[in-house]
Amino acid sequence: MKTIQKIGLAIFILCLGVFISLLGIGHYQLSDKIFKETITDANHQQLLKPAVSFMIDKDYDSKIAFIADFKKAFNSVNDEFKKNQQWDKVIYADYTQPIVKHSTIGFVKENSLILFFICFVVSSLGGLMYMIPALFIEPVAGIKHNDIFKTAITSRGIIAILFSIGLISFYIFLYKAPEYITNWILLVDDLSFAISGSEASQWFLYGFLYCLVMTVMSARMYIKYRHNNYQLVRTTSVLFFQIAFAFLIPNILSKLNLPSMDFKNMWPLDYTFFFDYRIDGLISKGLLGYWMLGWGIFLFVVGVPVMVYFFGKRWYCSWVCGCGGLAETLGDPFRQLSDKSLKAWKYERVIVHSVLVFAVVMTAAVLYTYFTGNSKLLGIDTGSIREQYGFFIGFIFAGAIGTGFYPIMGSRVWCRFGCPLAAYLGIMQRFKSRFRITTNGAQCISCGNCSTYCEMGIDVRAYAQKGENIIRSSCVGCGVCAAVCPRGVLKLENLAEEGRFEAYLRPEEK
Ligand code: SF4
Ligand code: SF4
Repeated sequence: MKTIQKIGLAIFILCLGVFISLLGIGHYQLSDKIFKETITDANHQQLLKPAVSFMIDKDYDSKIAFIADFKKAFNSVNDEFKKNQQWDKVIYADYTQPIVKHSTIGFVKENSLILFFICFVVSSLGGLMYMIPALFIEPVAGIKHNDIFKTAITSRGIIAILFSIGLISFYIFLYKAPEYITNWILLVDDLSFAISGSEASQWFLYGFLYCLVMTVMSARMYIKYRHNNYQLVRTTSVLFFQIAFAFLIPNILSKLNLPSMDFKNMWPLDYTFFFDYRIDGLISKGLLGYWMLGWGIFLFVVGVPVMVYFFGKRWYCSWVCGCGGLAETLGDPFRQLSDKSLKAWKYERVIVHSVLVFAVVMTAAVLYTYFTGNSKLLGIDTGSIREQYGFFIGFIFAGAIGTGFYPIMGSRVWCRFGCPLAAYLGIMQRFKSRFRITTNGAQCISCGNCSTYCEMGIDVRAYAQKGENIIRSSCVGCGVCAAVCPRGVLKLENLAEEGRFEAYLRPEEK
């Protein structure tokens, strides 16, 4: 077993090394043809052409120098317009990423297929060879977390810190500097053409990596939780919704020239849903567009209350949601790192509900501008509110912190502290739902497994010891507390509302 694991780890590290080193190699040459094919807007072409002419046919062996020259040329045009206050002429489209990608020549472009195989297929096999044998070492049935607090990756050691830095860096490149990861985007170009009918962007790469990571980590979940049907079904569900709904269907819709939409992603998690370009984009597509708009509204107005009433917020957070899906697969090895303190619970309630209020205010402001044409609400520019929300909540909280801090703060930092949809679902779950976790307190041996592995930081044991039902707005119904309990104390149930808040009574106590 140990040998297979070592070989797997060596393969994975080697492939990761190749993947990272791709960022630094390549030549860049901007031709007139590439310039015209990339900057399709005739007006922009005319404005930018004189400024970038010094770059045409020049050979760059440094991506940094190429990007610097292009940005300098691009900014010189815009700066002139800004200086003269010609705001209608300012170019807002960012052409840097596609220009860099199209101008790439050499090794990566010529060998994208083999590099795709090494970086994604072979590395995944290496990862599986490393992870899976460990799950078979314990032959006895049951879910074991042997040595989870002794390894550097799962107990905030140096490897965890490096992993965290890697994840955060990836999100920074993805959102703020995609022109530096064009060699990675090139690897998935063929796949993108096959599925969506167009070349890959950084978002296609992200979607693909998201699905790949979830698939690999789901294989681990299937083996680790093989004795627990709820975990097997739940893992299959999140994987299905991610691959089919979040990745394949939107890309196939694009290929068919129809409006692209992730049918399971709803406002306020999908905070751009009511932005003008989204609404106009849908309306312009006629009946189908109107139906999609209606579906999005139906989901959060009717779908959420009805489904939460019958199943609790787990129907979304643990079975459907993409953020939850990543947390339940990639994040599973880190679930024990969630903060269980009362202080964290207090912060959690204030922060997550504040984000919900912020999301509602921002959306109201955006809609106000959409319907009235007035860009200011109570003297505040609505565009800046939406920008602030996109930056702080969309990029910093959901991306960089939400996923980047898995190895440090556990797998559900975003869901617990930042997700406005989780707050909305939680309010419903707390006050109007049939869902609860029942506890048979008499059986509890106070081992604390349940609290340790609750990713939402709930002190499950405290409830179990008292025989109290667990009705917490933050509980995502992952069921891991019940799965790891050696005494079968905990049960996730959807029962009649009556008696929901009453404690479990032993027969002799009734
Ligand atoms: S209480 Fe149990 S089901 Fe709820 S989030 Fe925690 S571990 Fe998951
Ligand atoms: S895991 Fe089970 S036995 Fe252990 S403290 Fe929790 S409820 Fe009690």
